Parts: sequence; structure tokens; C-alpha cells
Amino acid sequence: MTAGAKNIMSFLDEEVSALEREGRRITLRILQGGQDPVSVVDGKRVVNLTSNNYLAFTTHPKVKAAAKAAIDRYGVGTAAVRSIIGTMDIHQTLEERLARFKGTQASLVFQSGFATNVALCQSLMTSDQDLLVSDELNHASIIDGGRLAKSARKIYPHKDMRALEAVLSSPEARKARRRMVVTDGVFSMDGDIAPLPAIQDLADKYDAFVMVDDAHASGVLGKNGAGTPSHFGLTDRTQIQIGTLSKAVAAIGGYVAGAQSLRDYLVSTARPFLFSSSHPPSVTATCLAVLDILESEPSHIERLWKNAEHFKRGLKALGFDTGASETPITPVMVGDTSKAKRFSQRLFEEGVFALAIGFPTVGKGKERLRTIVSAGHTYGDLETALKAFAKVGKELGIV
Ligand SMILES: *Cc1c(COP(=O)(O)O)cnc(C)c1O
Repeated sequence: MTAGAKNIMSFLDEEVSALEREGRRITLRILQGGQDPVSVVDGKRVVNLTSNNYLAFTTHPKVKAAAKAAIDRYGVGTAAVRSIIGTMDIHQTLEERLARFKGTQASLVFQSGFATNVALCQSLMTSDQDLLVSDELNHASIIDGGRLAKSARKIYPHKDMRALEAVLSSPEARKARRRMVVTDGVFSMDGDIAPLPAIQDLADKYDAFVMVDDAHASGVLGKNGAGTPSHFGLTDRTQIQIGTLSKAVAAIGGYVAGAQSLRDYLVSTARPFLFSSSHPPSVTATCLAVLDILESEPSHIERLWKNAEHFKRGLKALGFDTGASETPITPVMVGDTSKAKRFSQRLFEEGVFALAIGFPTVGKGKERLRTIVSAGHTYGDLETALKAFAKVGKELGIV
């Protein structure tokens, strides 16, 4: 660009400055090496309480070997969408296994959990006579899926079953063509579990169907980590189960599990499925190896919960407020964005990485640190973390 010429893109500098001023600018921390329970981040060794690598499978030897073997057999990519020539036998095998894992007739894999939620909302809610009913704390991908849906949308206050019944029993809902209730199974910021039995009962009563997003429950809750419907004994009733392959399963991707007709319909209509290419076979092989381990080695999930309970008990004993957490996602409530950021920064200096979550990701007064322990942490790692929390918590007047 010549000197003095008008920079048509200068609005971006102004936008970035505004983000900086509002404390909403995100800069990236760089992981040097694997996604380990104790990792090197920006040159510093830290106890890693930030990743969704619940079962420490990202570096499991059997999983790595499966991914390498798939590259030797199939190559590195598919260079096609599923509906043209991008469906390999290994993709089909994974979908059969995922259906078995979730206890459903069929499943279908998408590029990510995000794409899966968008695909489902968009493909199932196709008319202004349909109604999508969603918990206010549902994941951003469900919100965006709702924006692409052609249906009306109603949001109910978090886990408020009276409010959900009021929506489902309203004249508008009763005359809708289809009613879909969508909820996270485990909520990603608070670590609380959706009241799925009550949601399913209300849905049944008012002729609605339920879609549960188990991104944080798959590999964590239920039989062998099958998710919240399994946890509550609702596998035969919950119509649509969403899972991710990006968190406990340690690869990348998302999937829906449900009826064969649901899969058949989505194969022909879901836009992210039809217009975006399929997973590299190494990713698919990773997922298959993880399913093998989930079915044969229950010790990983057991250790995850032991670690989570140990860490949560330690935080509470120090006087921290861990909010509504019922799962390994454990918030440490702070109540102020800049204080939460300071807390996170000081912990990092003390060798512990826990993410600050501020407004608007969570409501005003609900600012916090968000922690997730993994099955790979030792009690020694957790003691290191608790010591740092005690020190910095006192320093900042939080405990
Ligand atoms: C992480 C997450 C997703 C997105 O999953 P990806 O596979 O990372 O795209 C969807 N829903 C919830 C509740 C999540 O926490």
C-alpha cells in the first residue's frame, strides 16, 4: 500500500483497541509439547488445569499407535466430503461403534461438536411452525444453530423446570408442528448436570423431543462414559444424543446418536455434513482406540472422579466457593473480572494454569477461574495446585 493511501481495513485496528480497552482481547498461550497433566506453556512448567483432556488419552500409547497405523494404511486425508467419496470403511466402523457406545440404533460423525449442534438445529427446525426450546446456559454452538434454524426459539432460565413447562404448555408451543428441547448434559462453565429426567418427562408430556449435548459428559458420566442419558437410565427415552470427539476422546469431531431415521435424514440434509470434508483416518482410528480403552479399562474414569473429588474437597477446605459443580469441571468463584484475571496470572507464576472466565462469558458477579483435573494428575500435582491456590487466594483476599 502506498504511503498516505487510505487504509480501508483500519477499522480492524480500532476494533482490536476497543477489545483491549474492554478487557476482551484474547491472546494465545502456547503449549510447547503434549497436552499433558503437567505441561510446558509459554516456556513455563505448569500443572495444567485448563484442558478437556479428561482421561489423559491425547498421549496414551495405544491411541498414538492406532493413529500411526491408520496413516500407514489409509494415508493422511480424505480429500472429499462424506457424501461423495470421503466415507472410508473406518468411518463407518466408528459410527457403528459410537451407536453401540451410546445405546442407540445409529450415529453420524461431523467435523466437530460445534458443527454437529449447528447441523442438528438447522436440519430439524426448518419451519416457522417449529419451536426450539433451549436452556439459557447452553453452549454457543447451540445458540448459533438456533440462529440458523427457521423455527421460533424460546430460552428458559437455567434448569428451571417450571419455566420449561410454562413454555411447553403455552398455546404457541401446543400449535407448533415440532417441539425440540435442547440442553447441555453437563454445563461447561459451572460443571452442573442437567435435570434430564425432569426434562424428558416434560418433553414426553407435551409431545416434544429432547436433544442433549454431552460434550462434557461423554467419557466422563454414565456406563463407560456413555453420557447423561446412561447416567440417569434414560438411554431408551432420550431421542437425540450429541457427543464430542474433541474432549475426553482426545481427537477432534462430534457426532449425533439416535434412531436410524435420524441418521438417514441427516446424511441427505445436514449442511456441515454435505459441504465440509471428512476426518483424516488417523482421527477416526484415534476415536476407535479410545472406545476400546473405555470399554476395557474402567480405571481411567475412576481415577478422573477420584482426582476431581480430591481437588474439590481441597479447594472447599481452603474456603473457596466451587459453585454448583457436580463433575470434574470445578469453578472457583471470584466475582470480579479483573480480580479473576489477576488470580489466574499469579497462579501461573506459581506454576499452575487455571483459566479466568469473565463477563460476558459468565454473568456479572459470576466471574471465576475454571478448573478441570484429569485422570493423569497425581495427588502430588493436585497438592502443588492447592498450595498455590491457598497462597494466591490469601494474597488477593479471596479466602
Ligand atoms: C466444547 C463443546 C462443544 C464443541 O465441541 P467441539 O468438538 O470442540 O467443536 C459443544 N458443546 C459443548 C457443551 C461444549 O462444551
